[in-house]
Amino acid sequence: MAKSIHTQVAIIGAGPSGLLLGQLLHKAGIDNVILERQTGDYVLGRIRAGILEQVTMDLLDEIGVGERMHREGLVHGGFELLFGGVRHRIDMNRLTGGKNVMVYGQTELTRDLMQARAAAGLSTIYEAQDVSVHDFDGRTPSVRYEKDGKQHEISCDFIAGCDGFHGVCRASVGRGAITEYEKVYPFGWLGLLSDTPPVSDELIYVNSTRGFALCSQRSKSRSRYYLQVPLTDKVEQWSDEAFWRELRLRLDGEGRERLVTGASIEKSIAPLRSFIAEPLRFGRMFLAGDAGHIVPPTGAKGLNLAATDVKYLSAALIQYYSDRSEEGIDGYSARCLARIWKAERFSWWFTSLLHRFPDDGPIVAKFQQAEVEYLLNSDAGSRTIAENYVGLPLDFGQ
Ligand SMILES: Cc1cc2nc3c(=O)[nH]c(=O)nc-3n(C[C@H](O)[C@H](O)[C@H](O)COP(=O)(O)OP(=O)(O)OC[C@H]3O[C@@H](n4cnc5c(N)ncnc54)[C@H](O)[C@@H]3O)c2cc1C
Repeated sequence: MAKSIHTQVAIIGAGPSGLLLGQLLHKAGIDNVILERQTGDYVLGRIRAGILEQVTMDLLDEIGVGERMHREGLVHGGFELLFGGVRHRIDMNRLTGGKNVMVYGQTELTRDLMQARAAAGLSTIYEAQDVSVHDFDGRTPSVRYEKDGKQHEISCDFIAGCDGFHGVCRASVGRGAITEYEKVYPFGWLGLLSDTPPVSDELIYVNSTRGFALCSQRSKSRSRYYLQVPLTDKVEQWSDEAFWRELRLRLDGEGRERLVTGASIEKSIAPLRSFIAEPLRFGRMFLAGDAGHIVPPTGAKGLNLAATDVKYLSAALIQYYSDRSEEGIDGYSARCLARIWKAERFSWWFTSLLHRFPDDGPIVAKFQQAEVEYLLNSDAGSRTIAENYVGLPLDFGQ
C-alpha cells in the first residue's frame, strides 16, 4: 500500500456535483481531493444536461467560474408546448416576475469547473480504480483506491459521495439504513446532437400521437433533439435519416419547415427513472447529486438539483469547520430532500403530461389535452408550470 495522505473532505466523482463542491470548499479554505474513476476526457465527452436554473447560475458566479457561461450561454425567458398540433408559449419571465433559465451545456460547465480546479492547483485523481469507502460511521473515515497498479489510502474528516447513480458510496451503506423510492418509466429518450441551427429560438416540448419529442439546443449552431422510444429500441436501429423522419412526423407544419437536419455528432438512448434515497447522510458520509436521486430529464432538474445539494453540503461543512457546529451537517439530508421531492414531483408530473404510456388508451390522451387546456387558460395554472420550470427558490416552503 502506498503512503496514506490526509484531506479534510474526500470527494468521490468528478461530475458536476463533485467539481462544484470542490470549488465551494476550496473557496472557504477547506482542503479536498477528488477521486474519479474515468479519464477527464471521458467525463467531458458525456452529453447530458443543458438547462441551468438561476440558483445554478448564481452558484457558478459565487465560485468565479460564470464568466464564459454569461458570454456564450443563451438566456431563455420562455418555452413552447406543442400539443395536438397547436403551439402554446409559457412566458416564464412574465409569469415568474422576471426569472429565466440559461442554455449552457453540462459539457461546457464541466470544462469550466475542471479548468478552475486545475488553475487553483487542486488535486483530482482520474482513473482511480476500485474506490472503496471505510469507517464513515466513526470519526476517522478513509477511502482506498488503486492507481497505476498501486493501492492508495486517503484518510479524511468527511466523504462526499458525488459518484452518480451507479457509484460506490450509496452501494456501501447497509441496506437497513437506507430507503429507496423508485419509478422506472416504460420508455426511453433517444437523443441526437448535431451542428445545425435550432428549429426555434426556444425549446419546444411536443406531445404528439406518435409520442413525445423535445427540440432543445446547446448554442445558436448546435441542436439537441430527443424522441420518446420504446425501451427495447437500440441506438444502432436508428439511422440519422430515420431520426429526422420521425421527428418531422411529431412536429407541426412550422417546425417541419424550419427544421435543419445534418449528421449526428452523438446519438444515445437514456432510460427514464424517478429515484430518491433517504436519508442522504450516513455518519460522516454524504450523498449529493445523482448518487442520491434521479429525475426523468423532462423538467431539466438533475444538474440543478445536484448544484443545490452541494450548495447545502458546502454550507454545512463550512459551518462545521468555522464554528465547530454540527447543526448544518445534521440538517443536510432533510434540507436537501425537501427540495428534491418537489423537483421530483414536477419532473414526474411533466413527464406524465407529455408522454404516451404504452398501457394508456385514448382516454388518457384526452385527459392530457384537457389538462393542458386548463393550465394554459388559467394564469395560476401557467404560473405553476413556469415557477417549477425556472426552479423554486432555495429553501422554498421550509
Ligand atoms: C441524457 C440526459 C439528459 C439530461 N438532461 C438534463 C437537463 O437538461 N437538465 C438537468 O438539470 N439535468 C439533466 N440530466 C441529468 C444530469 O446530467 C445529472 O443530474 C448530472 O450529471 C448529475 O451530476 P453528478 O455529478 O451528481 O453525477 P454524474 O454526472 O453522474 O457524475 C458522477 C461521477 O462519478 C464518477 N464515478 C462513478 N462511480 C465512481 C467510483 N466508484 N469511483 C470514482 N468515481 C466514480 C462517474 O464517472 C462520474 O464522473 C440529464 C441526464 C442525462 C443522462
